[in-house]
Amino acid sequence: MIKANSLKKAYTTEEVETIALNNVNIEIKEGEFVSIMGPSGCGKTTLLRIAAGLEPLQHGRISVGDEILDDDAVTVPPEDRNIGLVFQDYALFPHLSVRDNIAFGLRHRPASERRERTDRALDRTG
Ligand code: ADP
Ligand code: MG
Repeated sequence: MIKANSLKKAYTTEEVETIALNNVNIEIKEGEFVSIMGPSGCGKTTLLRIAAGLEPLQHGRISVGDEILDDDAVTVPPEDRNIGLVFQDYALFPHLSVRDNIAFGLRHRPASERRERTDRALDRTG
């Protein structure tokens, strides 16, 4: 089980503070498959980078099973976390449109189903 409690993270650059995570709580049970969805800039990548240990956590706690990965007292280095991360830049085809990237995984489905499911995904994510 992966647990995240009260995660907070802000980036500060040249006097501008951007709050990326504001009190995020997640619980993912063993074997569960979870997708995190939201508009660009809502903090998805920050959350994954914090879980992987690539970004310091400012407040809160992340744990896997009984092991605390990050909190005020403990910080397990990324290479000891056993967390894998695939960055979107390497998972998307730069030569395809957004629509065609979404439709790629459906390429063996009938054209009408591809269109319909791609439309739905685009609607949902904006
Ligand atoms: P998402 O992955 O959902 O698009 P991000 O986690 O990349 O969102 O970004 C969340 C917010 O934090 C955005 O406002 C983004 O501009 C800001 N941000 C992300 N990384 C940095 C950084 N290294 N320095 C400053 N601001 C950042
Ligand atoms: Mg992102």
